[in-house]
Amino acid sequence: MSRSVLVTGGNRGIGLAIARAFADAGDKVAITYRSGEPPADLLAVKCDITEPEQVEQAYKEIEEKHGAVEVLVANAGVTRDQLLMRMSEEDFATVLETNLTGTFRVVKRANRGMLRARKGRVVLISSVVGLMGSAGQANYAASKAGLVGFARSLARELGSRNITVNVVAPGFVDTDMTRALNDDQRENIVKQVPLARYAQPEEIAASVRFLASDEAAYITGAVIPVDGGLGMGH
Ligand code: NDP
Repeated sequence: MSRSVLVTGGNRGIGLAIARAFADAGDKVAITYRSGEPPADLLAVKCDITEPEQVEQAYKEIEEKHGAVEVLVANAGVTRDQLLMRMSEEDFATVLETNLTGTFRVVKRANRGMLRARKGRVVLISSVVGLMGSAGQANYAASKAGLVGFARSLARELGSRNITVNVVAPGFVDTDMTRALNDDQRENIVKQVPLARYAQPEEIAASVRFLASDEAAYITGAVIPVDGGLGMGH
């Protein structure tokens, strides 16, 4: 069955891999993008998730073309890494506003149609960093940990309506976000990962697809690590 799927930040990196995985499986996939040129093979809607009006507009367009969103993958996210003493109010607010408040905004809007349909799947992309912490990423870790509490509250709130809400917590994935790190940082990270490598975006996409599948119908409020063993015990 072809479902209406929305992936935020689906123009590159992990989001694009997730979008392609759903499209390859036959779903109707829409992505949001904030900048740049989106891939031509997916329904791409321009939307900055920090702007409520753009979110509303994006949903209207997607609903017209694909029907109400049945599977939402809230993937869009940013980093503004800095040690606490040097972290500005703006660095902190931008990351929280995008990763946590932006996610709240897109989930709330999707929930309208899901409640009506009495079914839905929501997957939030958090990070191993939200569970383990990371020096220089207090803002990012706080936003990603916040997603866990957010998801688990919604799992309780929406479970009786047959809506599942789960979190995927990737470790280090080979994308633009981690390519911004220098060679020393990348080497140090790999040393800490039991599987001794970065993940490919497709490896994150596989878990997201599983959580949206019929096989995962009884999983909600879960945090699924896809981190090569980096976060074990957290
Ligand atoms: P990228 O930096 O490659 O892509 C980020 C995506 O988010 C882009 O599509 C970007 O759009 C979009 N985005 C950022 N801000 C906004 C905004 N305000 N409104 C709409 N879209 C926005 O990141 P990744 O693919 O690596 O990461 C995807 C998700 O996975 C993020 O939530 C990240 O935190 C998480 N993650 C990544 C890990 C990694 O190692 N890479 C590890 C763990 C989690 P645009 O192209 O316009 O900038």
